[in-house]
Amino acid sequence: MSIHHKEHRNKPEYHTPIYEMALAQFEQAADRLDLDPNLRKRFIAPKRAIMVNIPIRMDDSSVEVFHGYRVHHDTTLGPSKGGIRFHPDVTLGEVSALAMWMTWKCALMGLPFGGAKGGVRCDPHALTRNELQRLTRRYTAEIVQFIGPEMDVPAPDIGTNEQIMAWMMDTYSQLKGYSIPGIVTGKPINIGGSLGRTEATGRGVVYCILEAIQHLKMQVEGCKIVIQGFGNVGYHTARILYEKGCCVLAVSDIKSGLYNANGLNIPMLKQYIEKHTHMKGFPEGDEISNADLLELSCDVLVPAALSEQITCENAERISCKILAEAANGPTTLEADKILQDKGLFLIPDVLANAGGVTVSYFEWVQGLQNFFWKEVEINERLHDIVTLAFQNVLRLALSEKVDMRLAALMLSVRKITEAKLARGLFP
Ligand code: GLU
Repeated sequence: MSIHHKEHRNKPEYHTPIYEMALAQFEQAADRLDLDPNLRKRFIAPKRAIMVNIPIRMDDSSVEVFHGYRVHHDTTLGPSKGGIRFHPDVTLGEVSALAMWMTWKCALMGLPFGGAKGGVRCDPHALTRNELQRLTRRYTAEIVQFIGPEMDVPAPDIGTNEQIMAWMMDTYSQLKGYSIPGIVTGKPINIGGSLGRTEATGRGVVYCILEAIQHLKMQVEGCKIVIQGFGNVGYHTARILYEKGCCVLAVSDIKSGLYNANGLNIPMLKQYIEKHTHMKGFPEGDEISNADLLELSCDVLVPAALSEQITCENAERISCKILAEAANGPTTLEADKILQDKGLFLIPDVLANAGGVTVSYFEWVQGLQNFFWKEVEINERLHDIVTLAFQNVLRLALSEKVDMRLAALMLSVRKITEAKLARGLFP
């Protein structure tokens, strides 16, 4: 057997750089907690993973086969929970890392869920609506044994939305023979979705930023914000901060970014994008690249796009007071260290973007009870859960003299560890 094969045999398939990043974050928390090695072993690998090949008839009658995944990282606290990503870079390693982050996120928010994630390697923008529908339905059919309202509950993530969730819910229900709205969250309101779910992630990001501003004794009014990404999360974060009187200096989408030293008019920009599909050409701002945007001097930087955006290449030039990780995994390990040395205040992804899964939890509960709440109740409960988690993390970070990411992971790992010990090991 060649050396290459031997090395390969020793490393599981999901051990890609992004998984190793998630693992290293966990190991820092485990070291700090002096976690029993027997327990440590149970966290470092996903509980189970499924890989499926999804054949689709394209509109031109040819057949394409796409790779799909669903990973359950941990199910100690309840059914696993996490989004479905449609993106050309989806791999088993990425989905496994994202599943691990979901485990920490749910535990940190006090939700009765474990962590999961799924994805299909595809470019959803290059597919027609019919192709996307066939892909979603066949993917759902391929993982049907792996999901369920009591087992594993998918939701939207990058490249998926409430329409995709509606097709997933319909496919699952058709296969079972009756309507099962609790199979997914983030579905349209008219089939059992929750009020406030669409903007929940952005809302959670804002609640965290407001807590950080207060902690650092800064002002909300006129606070200078830079946001990378203008998808569901980036847009709602920008909109709510704009409504609160912050000055949104710059935003970007996949194609380009916009900068205005006096602040962008977010409602006007939204209208422009609805008309022109992209923000490029918006008259009241100068064009800026995604790379330059990240290095703008500001009070709050919000990466709300893909992972691994802040790396050892640009971390030194990041110039904000608060970094709110609205995306999952936007900061690499090396960058984390550099940012910490610079003394900026980090709100880690598992805390900053947990508003989405929190309202997903409300949607799941409302579905199980067939009793629906008012939007004010949802936003109020979301606010309470996110700010309580923020304060818990901050308290531990200050008392243990660690950064917010390490404090958040320590809380989550400790919580699941206690649950594992209480349940014992089967058989
Ligand atoms: N995909 C979102 C996340 O990364 C939401 C997950 C959910 O609502 O289950 O947190």
